[in-house]
Amino acid sequence: MMEKSFVMMKPDTIQRRLMGKVLSRFEEKGLQIVAVKMMHISPGLAQEHYGEHCERPFFNDLVEYITSSAVLAMVIQGDDCISMIRKMVGATNPKEADLGTIRGDYALDTGRNIIHASDSPQSAEREIALFFQDSEICDYSMPDSDLIYEE
Ligand code: UDP
Repeated sequence: MMEKSFVMMKPDTIQRRLMGKVLSRFEEKGLQIVAVKMMHISPGLAQEHYGEHCERPFFNDLVEYITSSAVLAMVIQGDDCISMIRKMVGATNPKEADLGTIRGDYALDTGRNIIHASDSPQSAEREIALFFQDSEICDYSMPDSDLIYEE
């Protein structure tokens, strides 16, 4: 099923100049980038985005980290892409993430794990609506889609 996922490169990805490498992985997989926005997240938006963790001991540090500098917010589209992107991103703790995943290859610390990706269709819908207007999501065809999808 065609899905949209919310993916966000965290401040460390941008500051470490890893944006291009990370973005390339999604493009090379055959996924479609349908929205991109570089922005500074306000504390309010960070608290809302990570609301499910508000009681956790790491919450304040997480909000501080994610608001510390610019992030790159994205919407990525593809067949069953929500779970696929989670696999590509790897485990929350980069030390446990498999090599070959984004966190496994580029990060070492849970508190600096470089990327966020929606964990379910419900989260994706909520997160996309938090960060993007419908008009900011671009619908365009992929001329090579026959080479990526059988049907
Ligand atoms: N996090 C943290 N310490 C922890 C657990 C999580 O700093 O012990 C941060 C980390 O940046 C993680 C984010 O909180 O990516 C959200 O946690 P979640 O469990 O939702 O992991 P994710 O879905 O990002 O893999």
